[in-house]
Amino acid sequence: MIDILIQSGRVIDPVSGLDQIADVSITDGKVVSVGKARGKAREVIDASGKIVCPGLIDLHVHCREPGHEEEETIASAAAAAVAGGFTTVVAMPNTHPPIDDETAVNYVLQRAGEADLARVLPAGCITKDRKGQELAEMGMMLDAGAVAFTDDGEGVGSTLVMQRALQYGNMLGAAIMQHCQDPGLFGGVMNSGAVAVRLGLSGIAASGEEIMLRRDLELVQRTGGRYHAMHISSAGSVELIRRAKAEGLAVTAEATPHHLLLTDAACMTYDPNYKMNPPLRSAEDVEALRAGVVDGTIDCLATDHAPHCDEEKDLEFGLAPFGIISLDCALGLYAKAMIKTDLMGWPELIARMTSGPAAVIDRPLGTLSTGAIADVTIINPRARWKVDVSSFASISRNCPYDGWQLPARPVMTIVGGKIKFRLKGF
Ligand SMILES: [Zn+2]
Ligand SMILES: [Zn+2]
Repeated sequence: MIDILIQSGRVIDPVSGLDQIADVSITDGKVVSVGKARGKAREVIDASGKIVCPGLIDLHVHCREPGHEEEETIASAAAAAVAGGFTTVVAMPNTHPPIDDETAVNYVLQRAGEADLARVLPAGCITKDRKGQELAEMGMMLDAGAVAFTDDGEGVGSTLVMQRALQYGNMLGAAIMQHCQDPGLFGGVMNSGAVAVRLGLSGIAASGEEIMLRRDLELVQRTGGRYHAMHISSAGSVELIRRAKAEGLAVTAEATPHHLLLTDAACMTYDPNYKMNPPLRSAEDVEALRAGVVDGTIDCLATDHAPHCDEEKDLEFGLAPFGIISLDCALGLYAKAMIKTDLMGWPELIARMTSGPAAVIDRPLGTLSTGAIADVTIINPRARWKVDVSSFASISRNCPYDGWQLPARPVMTIVGGKIKFRLKGF
């Protein structure tokens, strides 16, 4: 007996290159067949007109727990994830206290298990207490279940520490994920440029990102190891990654929905929901990032979902914290940026949200091959729906997309063979 039979959907599996109308059968938490289903099923889901693909993976989510449960919890982030079609999210370690040892990694996994929604896999800190000075216990954290390492929120400023992190990461076979921003060049609230000058706000130049990225790529070349550039935001960064890949370095990169859709012109509203780090940049940067996603220079799409409560975020632009949320609506945003613009098709977009990120964390996810873990997302590629931030599963509301009309929407999210989200009416 089949547990779940998903019938007649457009099945897209970037790993095998499959893109055809087929049935997907799930039993005991595994994909047992893709093709014409045989046998009876406990639950039959009609997916005609829908896309059936491996569960979406987001490498970059701030769950805020422990420390800021008024903004988000591991459970609420996991609920937002499945509502957004994500079966796996990587939790950023810049919590209070930070995830910099085994005990903290275990805590995240335990809370994720209790929530029992999306898989929430912890990233551990690169350095103890995110201070950028001394390497954290990366090996112990890896053994406990950490999937990658990052000091996200800040870049690792010390070249020596970064070199050691890459060497150690190489030994462990784990990716080092960098928030590329030279701390010495940081200071400002929005992109440097004409808009910042007009608004009288201090600027964050793209050079701070590109200089650190350039240094890191040099270190990767010398040390080996896997390196992942988080939320790259400038045309220059895209070009640096493109060249590094051409040279054969084990480098991956991610882009966020906001950097693919918005420019610094949005800051003219002085709305703090357009304040993020790295900042929104120019139209040329957006175009270069989109081109990078198309040609695979950018292998991963990641939200940098960064919840903040209203009291904290509703300040004047200069004082508000960086970051916005988008986990609940990210798929529609990516489709708007990449598919509605005719830049790419669904198979390529899905690859950037499944097999691309799965490779970074080196987990057997992001595929529908026989025997694979049954993490499956069903997408309505023709949904026209309006974002209503008040309906988000996320606890926070700092999102600039309220009222946006989006072109695609997840209708069902299956994690490990269990239905964790079903859109009303599907
Ligand atoms: Zn960051
Ligand atoms: Zn982040």
